[in-house]
Amino acid sequence: MTKFPCPHCNKLTISLKQKYLAGKWFNIHCDACLGRSCAQPIILALMSFLYVWNVFYFSVVAYLERSWYFVGILIVLWLILDYFCHYIPLQRMKSPNKKPPVAADDEPADLVFAQPPAQPPTHTSSLNKEISAEQSKKLEDS
Ligand SMILES: [Zn+2]
Repeated sequence: MTKFPCPHCNKLTISLKQKYLAGKWFNIHCDACLGRSCAQPIILALMSFLYVWNVFYFSVVAYLERSWYFVGILIVLWLILDYFCHYIPLQRMKSPNKKPPVAADDEPADLVFAQPPAQPPTHTSSLNKEISAEQSKKLEDS
C-alpha cells in the first residue's frame, strides 16, 4: 500500500486513507513520532472553493438545461478533484499541549506593566525634609 512521508520525521507512515482525509480538513497523527500534521491550508481552501463551484455551477446548469449530462460532468470533476487531493503537501502542526513561544514572551511584559513603578522611599522622605526645611526658614523669616 502506498505510504507518504511524515513532515515531522520523514518516515513513510502516512497511509493513503489518512492522506485522503487530510484533503477533507482532517488532522493526521504519525504513528512513529506522534506528530500532528495537516494539508497545506491555502491550497486546501482553494480546493474547497473548486468543490463548491463545481457543485453549484453544474447543478444549476443541469437544472436549467434539464439534462443529466451535466450531473455526469459534476461527478467526474468531483473525482478529479479528489484525485488531486493526494498531491496537496502536508504541513507540520504544533502539539496542542505546548504553549506557543509568543504567549511565553508576553507574560513578563504583562507582569512588568501590572506592577506600579518602584520608587525609593528615601526620595519622598528627602522631599519632605526639603519642604519642612523651607517651611522652617519661612517661619524663621516671619
Ligand atoms: Zn512522524
